[in-house]
Amino acid sequence: MASVAQKRIGVLTSGGDAQGMNAAVRAVVRTGLHFRAGVYAIYEGYQGMVDGGDRIRPLAWDDVGSILHRGGTVIGTARSADFRERAGRLRAARNLIQNGIDRLVVIGGDGSLTGADIFRREWPELVAELYQNGEIDEQTAQLHPALMITGLVGSIDNDMVGTDMTIGADSALYRIIEAIDAITSTAASHQRSFVVEVMGRHCGYLALMSAIAGGTDYVLIPENPPSEGWETQMCELLRHGRAAGRRDSIVVVAEGACDRDGKPISADYVRQVLEERLGEDTRVTILGHVQRGGTPSAFDRWMSTLLGYAAVEEVLSATPESEPQMIGIRYNRIQRAPLMQCVQQTHSVAQKITAKDYDGAMALRGGSFTEMFQMFKRMAEAMPSVALPARPRRLAIIHAGGLAPGMNPAVRAAVRLGLDRGHVMLGVRGGFQGLIDGRIEELTWGGVEGWTSLGGAELGTNRQIPTLEQFYSVGRSLETQNIDGLLIIGGWAAYKAVYELYRERERYPAFKIPMICLPASIDNNLPGSELSIGADTALNVIVEALDRIKQSATAARRCFVVETMGRFCGYLALMGGLAGGAERVYLHEEGITLNDLQADVESMVESFRGGRRRLYLAIRSERANPRYTVDFLTRLFEEESHGCFDVRQAVLGHIQQGGNPSPFDRILATRLAARCIDYLSQELERKSTESAFIGLFEGRVTIFPLKQMADMVDWTYRRPLEQWWLELRPVVQALAQQPTSTNEQEA
Ligand code: ADP
Repeated sequence: MASVAQKRIGVLTSGGDAQGMNAAVRAVVRTGLHFRAGVYAIYEGYQGMVDGGDRIRPLAWDDVGSILHRGGTVIGTARSADFRERAGRLRAARNLIQNGIDRLVVIGGDGSLTGADIFRREWPELVAELYQNGEIDEQTAQLHPALMITGLVGSIDNDMVGTDMTIGADSALYRIIEAIDAITSTAASHQRSFVVEVMGRHCGYLALMSAIAGGTDYVLIPENPPSEGWETQMCELLRHGRAAGRRDSIVVVAEGACDRDGKPISADYVRQVLEERLGEDTRVTILGHVQRGGTPSAFDRWMSTLLGYAAVEEVLSATPESEPQMIGIRYNRIQRAPLMQCVQQTHSVAQKITAKDYDGAMALRGGSFTEMFQMFKRMAEAMPSVALPARPRRLAIIHAGGLAPGMNPAVRAAVRLGLDRGHVMLGVRGGFQGLIDGRIEELTWGGVEGWTSLGGAELGTNRQIPTLEQFYSVGRSLETQNIDGLLIIGGWAAYKAVYELYRERERYPAFKIPMICLPASIDNNLPGSELSIGADTALNVIVEALDRIKQSATAARRCFVVETMGRFCGYLALMGGLAGGAERVYLHEEGITLNDLQADVESMVESFRGGRRRLYLAIRSERANPRYTVDFLTRLFEEESHGCFDVRQAVLGHIQQGGNPSPFDRILATRLAARCIDYLSQELERKSTESAFIGLFEGRVTIFPLKQMADMVDWTYRRPLEQWWLELRPVVQALAQQPTSTNEQEA
């Protein structure tokens, strides 16, 4: 980018706070400095802009160190009545101009972004008035003819049209799921029912996703009110669940839930219905501000970091004529969209709800929201027992590969949806060896109860791939058990095994049944899926570990070399680096050279000699280099530090496979499993014996024919040939290296 030494950016957080705002602020500040701009924090949102003085201050590189893990916003947020008035905005304009600022990154909800746009439109008039009043001179007025703004959406509700996720929504979902998991265990002990109210006045995102991830019985959202007589249907569903062995019942209600006549449905009303009609002891939990609290999730850290980076690129390249943009995430990629169009469409969702145009409201929420709503209904309405057809199909579920949190929710969804279609669902215990040994059992609706929140893999998994000698036994087992279709949930070993079976199908006719692979691996190294189940949970474990490592090193001048899992795939290392604020990430995809290491040591020494007080964090992907091991790096850095700092190492190891599945992994598991059951059912109906692998590709659930696998993978290094996340490397580099001329020097 061309020199932008004169450009000054103001950054503010406004409206309701959201976890991840700090990551965005940090990224804005550091990216701005990286591109040689001046970056100013505007404290306490628009009120700070109106007040001026020391509420507008330049920020230096280190000012935003150690804030990634903090909830809320370190630069404060407020609701400002003054800014709603023109007089307030006039003062705000004067304060910005006095600091030489005419570019703003606004992080807030639709209210804040609307305010920013009003301010931007008025700016020329405000500048003219300031000049006429003698508050600024002519030259200053001419220097700032326009205000250029870029918006980031900070809102836990995930209520903005134009971005798939808003800053804070994933963390809020975490909080809700923690609460629902806790409620589930107490509810189950007492056979109680619970009604949980979550935030979302016009947006049912948190309610719907927490209902799916929490494995609850019923959900009420504003965009799609239940039809008349819903109370009876809800009670029916809960009754069926109880009869099938459920010990708890949970109904999730969005704050803004209404019936079809627009009459609000309160959590208390739902409680009354359950008590009266089911005679159940029912309790209400209103989660309220808990949802805004706590430390941000890994996703909210890395996504907000990318958003902050992109926002600075955008605001620095903006011209007085350009239309202001909102930076969001669509289909797993950072994307810009015209700011005011997004805000208007968001308002029109609320208007459509008020006007009872629910189809219109759902349509504006987008295809995957509607898909998820339908899926929840299918899951919730799936009957514990249906009349089986004369010759039911027998679908078997098997795991292979390393353990991935999310395997259990995937099995649960597959079993319930499979039973609902009249299939017999079988679970194979202990991977392919279990299949050979005939360790196969029928799975029931009640048998998978509670699996949504369970880490590990109840069916068991291992990395065994059947050998040529074992093919015969595998075939026999498939035949003797009358298995009509196979769902393989797992990692590299699962994919490789199915690929081998597929290739041998001419010699072993038993393999001529539809099979589908569902990606579950913390390594995120599977073809056809940009994200595999388990990777998000593992990233959260990594981020939590990094937080502790950082805390442990607060008092020391220290470098930490942390190794993440992933084998030859650097996903966990790079994303862990982005989310955890690493200075350096070593990947197999890039390799490590001696020159790199020398440059790294020099930069460490320079940084610590220059007074660095924070940890220098280096993350190494498991197989980044066979000889430059963690141990080697640690000793090399220690030796070359010449006593200027000390060096420690941590190999995170198997804790990365532990933990209960994150909300995202539960949702993805459910979504993919549902589509796998559809696929197998369809293929069986068509009498086809095709096989496939499924994934989330460019944001959409996609099914690839199995034969395509060979063209998509690097068999040697066990990873997809194309890895989307490698393009994020420049962001890590930009945020890690402090440029030589700093903010203060330029200010
Ligand atoms: P959110 O940004 O979370 O939607 P609000 O709607 O409360 O939160 O907006 C936050 C702040 O943005 C308000 O307190 C006000 O200062 C400013 N703001 C919101 N709407 C407008 C508007 N129409 N004109 C000027 N400022 C506005």
